[in-house]
Amino acid sequence: MSARSFDFNKNAFPQIKEYAQTLRDIRRDFHKNPEIGLVTPQTSGKIASLLRSFGVDEVHEGIGGCGVVGVVRGARPGSLRVGLRADIDALPLAELSSHDHVSQIGGCMHACGHDGHAAVLLGAAKYLAETRDFPGEVVLIFQPGEEGWSGAKHMIDDGLFDRFPVAEVYALHNSSALEPGKIALNYGAMQAAADAFTITVKGKGGHASRPQMNHDPVLASAHVIVALQSIVSREVDPLETAVVSCCSLQAGDPRAQSVCPETCQIVGTARTFSPEVRDLVEKRIGEISACIAAGLGCEAQTKYERFYPPVINTPAQAKILADIAADLVGEENVDRSYPRMAGGEDFAFMLEKVPGAYIRIGQGGAPAHNPYFDYNDDVTPLAATLLAAGMDGRRKLEICFGHG
Ligand SMILES: [Zn+2]
Ligand SMILES: [Zn+2]
Repeated sequence: MSARSFDFNKNAFPQIKEYAQTLRDIRRDFHKNPEIGLVTPQTSGKIASLLRSFGVDEVHEGIGGCGVVGVVRGARPGSLRVGLRADIDALPLAELSSHDHVSQIGGCMHACGHDGHAAVLLGAAKYLAETRDFPGEVVLIFQPGEEGWSGAKHMIDDGLFDRFPVAEVYALHNSSALEPGKIALNYGAMQAAADAFTITVKGKGGHASRPQMNHDPVLASAHVIVALQSIVSREVDPLETAVVSCCSLQAGDPRAQSVCPETCQIVGTARTFSPEVRDLVEKRIGEISACIAAGLGCEAQTKYERFYPPVINTPAQAKILADIAADLVGEENVDRSYPRMAGGEDFAFMLEKVPGAYIRIGQGGAPAHNPYFDYNDDVTPLAATLLAAGMDGRRKLEICFGHG
């Protein structure tokens, strides 16, 4: 680990640096009082009242459940509307740290830093409401239920972008894999689509000593599992990538060594990084299973469940955010070709509707979803400036610092 070699908050907006202590207190209050999933009434209520106290023009609660939206209108002429999104939910995990802001709720903690994301967006909101030195409007989106609850989809289905249309949308996530002050993204797929499939192979059961009378679903399933591996190796473009993993195989009863069962079930996961590959993988899992099973006298039915789509940055918006990041911490601390990851993130639902970008901001420390994880408050001024400047692309920073 290299020692911290530069003041990564140096170029953060001075006003945001002034309320760093307030944001730290807000963040630690969220950390002490975590809420899981889509039901985050305390957190959402605090966010709404803080937005009102900051002088945000409009505050809307109860969007898609406990989602909160704030609107700030800029003082300069223009019609650009930009969305900034923070996730706000915690995880069902017992915290093991002993710091003074440890979770007060048993079996529940902010182990992904969404307490920090909420504080960061509140910091950007306070700054934008105070200065209003931008054209158009900013839509502040505080979203529960990121950790597997499709909270973003709930807000969209409840009319988020109909009521608050935006031309661009941005979000950030802390990263323990990166040192504080390092910022990373790419101009395409950041995170995978994470889907599940269940294949039910139906045969004809009977006495295992008379195989000619049966249609064995276990043998058919074995062939299906082998054949499914040809999707990635033979059907997906080798310059693309995908994962098809069969993770569970259930048939018969371990005590029934002489019973050929009626059915066999295969359960697995598929990870893809583009809508085209996702469509292909879904289609071919179903087709290959059905045809292989039919060839062996069985029938296969596939249930393919789409969970989160892939997170795909649009290049123009990714560049806006990367350029701002470079202004803040220097080009040498910005990775514009960060490797995509096979994990899921429900900001993907927003990027399906609106161009935008998702960026990772380094914070060091314990990995996410670990019981010792804690968001690093030191990066809040930098992160809040990154989002606030995202409102107006590079121009904001050029005005502020005179370069460009
Ligand atoms: Zn997480
Ligand atoms: Zn997270």
